[in-house]
Amino acid sequence: MIEIRGLEKYFGALQVLKGIDLDVAKGEVLSVIGASGSGKSTLLYCINGLEPIQKGSVVVDGTDVHDKATDINKLRQKLGMVFQQWNSFPHLTALENVALSPRIVKGKSRADAQEIAEQQLKHVGLADKLNVYPNALSGGQQQRLAIARALAMEPTYMLFDEATSALDPELVGEVLDTMRLLAEEGMTMICVTHEMGFARDVSDRVAYFHHGVMEEIGPPSQVFGDPQSEHTRKFLSNVR
Ligand code: ADP
Ligand code: MG
Repeated sequence: MIEIRGLEKYFGALQVLKGIDLDVAKGEVLSVIGASGSGKSTLLYCINGLEPIQKGSVVVDGTDVHDKATDINKLRQKLGMVFQQWNSFPHLTALENVALSPRIVKGKSRADAQEIAEQQLKHVGLADKLNVYPNALSGGQQQRLAIARALAMEPTYMLFDEATSALDPELVGEVLDTMRLLAEEGMTMICVTHEMGFARDVSDRVAYFHHGVMEEIGPPSQVFGDPQSEHTRKFLSNVR
């Protein structure tokens, strides 16, 4: 599981996370919502060690992410990450893009890596795009390729940072469907999202961030149906 205690993060003098306490259990789907600049992306980067922290701790499966003795590259293999926009390697086909990390990072044979890549591309509905280059894929297909690439590392956790925000509206659904499929398969997921329908229907819990504070966390029925914080109420009335 992921255990976050008293997490504080500064960029220079600016405090971006103000003491976050959060546990994410195996199999749980957590959606993180909140206004732009509230610290949602920074939270994900602190979880996978892309950003150093100033106070508190993040422990993943018993390993302290920010301990100097931790092999962060090894730990990061457990944490698949999908960004708003993913830069795939344009000179590699979809299959080669997905097979790359299993080969380079995990040391799989070419044949094994290809098999994994094929499986994961099928998994995200791109079985017919194996030999296509990223530029020939739609935005939604490129995001599914990004998901396949993360899954090819066999992560325990998937972190999504507004995976659908850069997409044309008609392409959002196919990516959310893929995320929903992973959730149904039992993947542990933290999804920073502006898709309130997804947050409500798919997540076990929803966390609302406001100026670096996790102001509210609970089941979607509570956070959407009976928000406890005035800020949450305001935010939800603006996005709906
Ligand atoms: P969100 O994802 O909720 O929109 P972020 O986590 O990206 O918010 O940002 C939180 C705050 O931290 C914002 O005020 C943002 O400007 C600031 N910030 C984010 N990244 C950096 C950085 N690398 N350097 C300085 N400030 C940053
Ligand atoms: Mg962000």
